[in-house]
Amino acid sequence: MSIIQLRNVTKTYGAGATMFQALKGVDLDIEAGDFVAVMGPSGSGKSTTMNILGCLDVPTGGTFLFRGHHIETLTRDQRALLRRKYLGFVFQGFNLLSRTSALENVELPLLYRGEDKKTRADLGMAALDKVGLKDWWDHTPAELSGGQQQRVAIARAIVTQPDVLLADEPTGNLDSERSVEIMELLTDLNRNSGITVLMVTHEPDMAAFARTIVHFKDGLVERIERSAEVAA
Ligand code: ADP
Ligand code: ADP
Repeated sequence: MSIIQLRNVTKTYGAGATMFQALKGVDLDIEAGDFVAVMGPSGSGKSTTMNILGCLDVPTGGTFLFRGHHIETLTRDQRALLRRKYLGFVFQGFNLLSRTSALENVELPLLYRGEDKKTRADLGMAALDKVGLKDWWDHTPAELSGGQQQRVAIARAIVTQPDVLLADEPTGNLDSERSVEIMELLTDLNRNSGITVLMVTHEPDMAAFARTIVHFKDGLVERIERSAEVAA
């Protein structure tokens, strides 16, 4: 069953003379457990689609089913709850708190959830262990390399055991060696934790790690490649 289903999704920004249709009728099905790369030229609608899939924004038209629920009918608060429960986010710029240790950064989503100190530390350390940074728990971001900072950000994103991990150009600030390490980590999490991964990337080498590649063009899904073709 699809965990994500977009049907004829449109998104219009602005009004009147400045109105712009960023999405023109997107249809997309994503299976639970898939590893999806989203590609396409700048302005093709990737971020707009990711914002909708991340329940940060709602479509102007069409339907978005997530785990069988109509998201476009939810209030802002209902979407916020959904995000905290089911989604994890990773960004190009890592977005870590700079004066705070790796562990405290990773614990943050658990703090918002109201978990106690012991639970936060246990789950936080387990997540840092998954990304290979258990021994670095008390280091601040400035004391870590870019690749390590992105690993901390990934630990923060998975500490709540989300169904879906949304990553916006997660390797955009990393050299190719570090980028491959991050892709291997995402592949490992996808395979072993069953987390559905959705990643925007401009780099074909990084998209090649995905099982499905969705190509956007002019506010529409232009074509979808599956792993057999991806591998070829
Ligand atoms: P990218 O190509 O990396 O996706 P964009 O420049 O398309 O970056 O968008 C960066 C951010 O700015 C997005 O969150 C997007 O919603 C917002 N944005 C893009 N274009 C406009 C615009 N014309 N007016 C206001 N916000 C915009
Ligand atoms: P991509 O991520 O593929 O670069 P986006 O989804 O960011 O594309 O943007 C698609 C189009 O919508 C672009 O032309 C962008 O300028 C426009 N856009 C994005 N966000 C906004 C916004 N908040 N206000 C107005 N226009 C926007």
